[in-house]
Amino acid sequence: MGFLSLRPSRMYGTLLLCTVFLMSGCLHSGKGSPVRGDEDGSRGGENDLFLEAKELLLLNPAEELLISSRILPWYGGKRAACSLTFDDGTLDQYLVAFPLMKEKGYRGTFYILTGLRDEGVWQDGKTPRRLFSWKAAGELAAAGNEIGSHGVSHRDLRALFRSGRKEEAVWELEQSAGDIISRLEESLLPAGGVLTFSWPFWRSTPELEGIASEFYLGARTGGGSMDRYFSANGGFPVGYSQNLFNINSYGVRSRDRSEDISAFLWSVYSSGSWALLNFHGVDDGREGGGEGWDAIKAGQFEEILSLIRRDGFWIAPVGEILRYREERRRAVLRVERGSAAGVLLSCEDGLNDGVYNMPITVDIRIGTGSPVREVLREVSPAEESKVPFMQLQDGWYRMNLIPDGRLYALVTRPDKLAAK
Ligand SMILES: [Zn+2]
Repeated sequence: MGFLSLRPSRMYGTLLLCTVFLMSGCLHSGKGSPVRGDEDGSRGGENDLFLEAKELLLLNPAEELLISSRILPWYGGKRAACSLTFDDGTLDQYLVAFPLMKEKGYRGTFYILTGLRDEGVWQDGKTPRRLFSWKAAGELAAAGNEIGSHGVSHRDLRALFRSGRKEEAVWELEQSAGDIISRLEESLLPAGGVLTFSWPFWRSTPELEGIASEFYLGARTGGGSMDRYFSANGGFPVGYSQNLFNINSYGVRSRDRSEDISAFLWSVYSSGSWALLNFHGVDDGREGGGEGWDAIKAGQFEEILSLIRRDGFWIAPVGEILRYREERRRAVLRVERGSAAGVLLSCEDGLNDGVYNMPITVDIRIGTGSPVREVLREVSPAEESKVPFMQLQDGWYRMNLIPDGRLYALVTRPDKLAAK
């Protein structure tokens, strides 16, 4: 019986995950290879191209095959991540910030107050602030932005909790997510619905964070300033073991200088971590501009957008980054079979695929040195089974795999496929 040997590989220091496992059984045991097919019960209803590859790879098991892999810290192999986040859902975010982001192809997270959206005004102390509508929220979501919750009516949940009104605080957390789900079309929301929360006034307690975990994947706080970002409020981006319900952010203020923001972004980028920026108002001098708290000038906002180097950061909403991060932490790549014609492997994270459906970026090297010609995914006939991939140096290949347990065939000898 042939066997597959494995060798751990190291890259990007501690961020590496080595994930090739030895599989001694064979596929027919059904282990680790759920076949999802058509309703008609025909043979799995799999895509012909994938089936062909699978059969080929089962045919001639390799005597010995060395396979290395690494799941990359951030999607697409980007060195660092960045999230643009907005609190309160004021009108200027929709009128001013959104078009500027759209122009650059950036998507962000808009944390909205759900209870005031129909009235259109939030009385912030003495200042009335106009809010964007549910229709606008739908438009933001349709453009790929995340609509997160900032509570129903901007109450201080920590104060509520401490004054014995715990139920009201819990209600704010639960009701606001429910509001978004009921007011936005399902197709506009990501798998999992409303994924993240941002604490009003950047205030929470460990107890509240525990309660929030029943409704969300994570919660963002703030109060980070230039010298405190890495430690204030216990938040990201240092390390991975920290509290997901107290993720820190850098609150961008009108007084901030762009060279400081530039230095901040660079330090996060060079440490390979996650920069969360928290905006409020953005002012372009027109009607509706500058509604939000401590509005920054539109030009300043644009400058920050251009500072975020498109090719360096993976720019994504908070919920996407949290899902990627969790999938990466949990995913296991397993070699099901190797042959002279390629490798059959599975990728599984053990998480609920109804929420965690983000592709993760994986580098793979097959020890035979034969170049990979084709990557195919186990899908139904109607779907495209070919997976795009990129050749790197030293025999490595980069591709995005969905960790839902389906099989992938990395074919090194497509001529054998055609000859069949
Ligand atoms: Zn707020």
